[in-house]
Parts: sequence; C-alpha cells; structure tokens
Amino acid sequence: MGTKANFQVRLAARPEGAPTREHWEMSSTDIVWPSDGEVLVETAFISIDPAMRGWLRDAKSYLPPVAIGDVMRAGGVGTIISSKHPDLKEGDQVVGHIGVQSHAVVQGGALRKVSDKVAPLSTYLGVLGMPGMTAYFGVTDVGALQVGDTVLVSAAAGAVGSIAGQVARNRGAGRVVGIAGSDDKCRHVVENLGFDSAINYKTESVGERIKDHCPAGIDVYFDNVGGDILDDALSCLRQGARVVLCGAISQYNNLENVRGPRNYLSLLVNRARMQGFIVSDYSDQYQSAVGELAGWLAERKLRYRETIVRGLEKFPETFQRLFSGEKIGKLLIQV
Ligand code: NAP
Repeated sequence: MGTKANFQVRLAARPEGAPTREHWEMSSTDIVWPSDGEVLVETAFISIDPAMRGWLRDAKSYLPPVAIGDVMRAGGVGTIISSKHPDLKEGDQVVGHIGVQSHAVVQGGALRKVSDKVAPLSTYLGVLGMPGMTAYFGVTDVGALQVGDTVLVSAAAGAVGSIAGQVARNRGAGRVVGIAGSDDKCRHVVENLGFDSAINYKTESVGERIKDHCPAGIDVYFDNVGGDILDDALSCLRQGARVVLCGAISQYNNLENVRGPRNYLSLLVNRARMQGFIVSDYSDQYQSAVGELAGWLAERKLRYRETIVRGLEKFPETFQRLFSGEKIGKLLIQV
C-alpha cells in the first residue's frame, strides 16, 4: 500500500434519463500496488464518450454494464509508475480502459503502448484513438466510400464526425456536408475542417437543407445521432446508398423508448443498406489506419480540436456536455 491518494469516480445509482451529479460518488483511497501481470498507471487524460451512457444501463450489450459501486469505466491514457508485467516498465505511456480514476491497476496485456514523442498524449484518445478509428473504418469500410460520393455526417463538429468528414474528403468524396448544433460549429467544420457546407439542425429545417446541399442525393450518410435527423437523411438517399449506423446520441438518455426510423422504406426503393458496427471489430487493422491518419496530420490534411476540462471531480458536469453539445471536437478530462 502506498501513501498517495487515488481519486475515483464510482457509479452510485443508475440514471433513468440524463445522468446528473447524484448518480456519482467521489472518494479518495490509498493506491494499491500491482500484482503479477498488472501495472499501476498514473492517469493523464480520461476520454468522455457517448458509449459511457450505454454502459450505465443494466442490459445486455457488447460490454457488461458498470456495476453500482464500481469505478466508472472510461478510456484513458497515462504513465506507468509501477510494473509487474514483463513487457511494460516504469515510465512507459499507455492507453486503454483505465477508468475514471487518477491511478489505475490494470492488466498489462489490456494496454497499448503510446508515446508523446510521436503525438500529444491526448490524441491517442481522439484523432489517433478510438474515435479516429471509428471515423476511418465507418467511412472506408462500412460506408464503402467511392470517389465522387456525396457524404452527409451528423454530429459533424464532434470527435468522430469531424474526422469522418475529413476521411471522406481525403479519400475522394465529391461533396461532404456536415450537420451540427450551432452556427459556430457549422462555421468550424467548413472553414477549419474543409467540409463543403454545414446545416445547423437547431435553427434550420434539416430535411429541406439536405435537399439544397445534396441536390443529387446522399451516397453515404454517417449517422451519429439517430432520431429525426436520421429520418431526414433517409428521405434523401441516392440509389445504392450506404447508411453508416455509428451511433444515435439523440436516443441514449431514453433507451427504453428508442424511436426507430420512420422513413426506412427509402432503403428498399433505393436498394440502399444501413449497417451498424462496433469499432473494436477492426482492432487488427488499427495500425494501418493510424499510419494513414498520422500521415494526413503531418500534411495538414487532417485537423482536430479538443475540449479539455481540468480535474476528475468535474466528471459529472463534463459528461453532460456530450448531450448538451457544449464542447467542440474530442471531450477530455485532464487529471
Ligand atoms: P461527439 O460527437 O464528440 O459528442 C456528441 C455530440 O452529439 C455533441 O457534441 C452534440 O453536438 C451532438 N448531440 C448531442 N445530442 C444530440 C441530439 N439530441 N441530436 C443531435 N446531436 C446531438 O461524440 P463522439 O465521441 O464523436 O461520438 C459520436 C457518435 O458516435 C455517438 O453516437 C457515439 O455513440 C458513436 N460512436 C460509435 C462507435 C462505434 O463503435 N459504433 C464508436 C465511437 C463512437 P451538437 O452541438 O452538434 O448537437
């Protein structure tokens, strides 16, 4: 046992709707040292992801739910301060499921080595991490992007959407249109990220504006939000379109009453398909994707933004910002 304190955020109660402060319990405990095969990681950044909302639900999914009283599951990046794993040593930087805590004991085999000499540590949770991989394989494989395609991306100023639009453009899309929740975000995706145009779904009629921005119809719709926006996109598909079912954040706080797409017959008449995926399905191909994304970063053909909140005690309100949209790009907590 050590003298340093491990600050942890634990799940106190399962939220019915939007998670608030009373669903979390924060405390400091003594640091526990690793056993054989484990390492002790000092956390640098925690990733705040929409998927975390799903992990709070007591239902079968691609990962088991977080149990009441457990440290909240979260991706993180940090530095090893003690190791009992043969391939990892003190000072190594690693990324993996570290949890919302300042110090984590983790199985060494579940972590991947990274280096801030290659890229800033935070990027391993964003553009070069899980969201970047999601964007890359969502566009190239699930979306089967073809040169000249018209691509529509929702949550376009977010971690995944901002990269998805740029992957599409860099791989030869003819037109890339974003949907986001403020004029500032719309300006950002066009002026800084190189999308052709953007729609503010809070102030404009999305269905009408898609027709204006994609006059020949949509070949690839990269869906991060579900709900009404998915229906609007479905009604503008082109023959043979691919709808990439990446996420449905508009539904996550009410998963007992998910609203399915009303316009799904558009898939039938347009011989289109809609396919879901989980990014980890592609883990054996991450290395080549990271190579291509890092190459674009070096050439300045790929840009990213981060919203960094300081202090793990801010976790409850930071988590809410995913749903309120009060952030741009990748949302992180710096520990
Ligand atoms: P993000 O886009 O960085 O953050 C969420 C954004 O969603 C917010 O900033 C907000 O932006 C928008 N939003 C929130 N509520 C909304 C609503 N009711 N209607 C429309 N937009 C809303 O999050 P991310 O990490 O990049 O994730 C994006 C999506 O990808 C999520 O659905 C996530 O679950 C999914 N995902 C899937 C996989 C996979 O393996 N399939 C992996 C990673 C992520 P505005 O200000 O624009 O509203």
